[in-house]
Amino acid sequence: MDLGINGRRAIVCASSKGLGLGCARALVEAGVDVMLNGRTQETLDEVGAELADIVGAGTVQAVACDVTTEQGRDALLEACPEPDIVINNAGGPPPGDFRDWGEKEWFSAVNANMYTPIEMIRRTVDGMAERGFGRIVNITSSSVKAPIPTLGLSNGARAGLTGFVAGCARQVAGSGVTINAILPGRFDTDRLRSGTQYIADQAGQSFEQAFELGKKDIPAGRYGHPEEFGALCAFLCSESAGFITGQNIVIDGGMIPNTT
Ligand code: NAP
Repeated sequence: MDLGINGRRAIVCASSKGLGLGCARALVEAGVDVMLNGRTQETLDEVGAELADIVGAGTVQAVACDVTTEQGRDALLEACPEPDIVINNAGGPPPGDFRDWGEKEWFSAVNANMYTPIEMIRRTVDGMAERGFGRIVNITSSSVKAPIPTLGLSNGARAGLTGFVAGCARQVAGSGVTINAILPGRFDTDRLRSGTQYIADQAGQSFEQAFELGKKDIPAGRYGHPEEFGALCAFLCSESAGFITGQNIVIDGGMIPNTT
């Protein structure tokens, strides 16, 4: 399928592994020139070389920085000042008990998972509107629709981002810019594996037991693959997806039994 975005420029935040990497790979395959990001230069070098080998694909560059800092966002936008596509992503907050979280934990979660994507939107959306094309995709979580008690920091911060985007997406919809969120259920990434270790420790199980149990309430009977996530992201960035905006699209193998 030709997504009609060959030659477009994308910043994919937090994309050296996991879901962000799935998005970066799918965009590169669609012919998009991608700016990768992560904090670890070595991982970016490895992944950048791998993606650059995809035949007939877009170009790949990388900026090693922490996207949750202003300096990090400055560096990304200096390297790619006029992105047509921005994928907002960052590491997720740790699990735990809400009684243990104070200002430090809350400010960190809100900074990474609410303020950072809002800043990336604020700094790129008007340029996209002037050029008449823009696609912004926020990676959030199925916890936006079905909050997970041990992930209270994530539930709270991502709900804030979701509320902001619901308004903002409509304000720019007439200029060719769409803003959507993809809400992952359980995908097999480093993040899922560290969360599984937390669950195993809490329940006195082995990692393997908790990993198998984690699939039991997924009707598809398995974890998602980052490539599947990336394919949805690339479609939302496509020319054809211009009429989809302000949406929160769950991709979870049927785990959340909602009709919306
Ligand atoms: P992951 O496999 O741990 O990958 C995280 C990626 O982000 C890595 O490339 C990491 O590289 C980079 N990164 C982390 N913090 C960063 C920062 N401050 N600045 C720049 N890059 C940063 O995680 P994932 O599973 O793909 O999860 C991505 C997001 O989706 C998270 O917010 C997570 O909470 C959310 N999510 C995931 C799932 C799931 O099942 N996997 C479900 C729901 C929600 P460096 O460490 O080198 O920076």
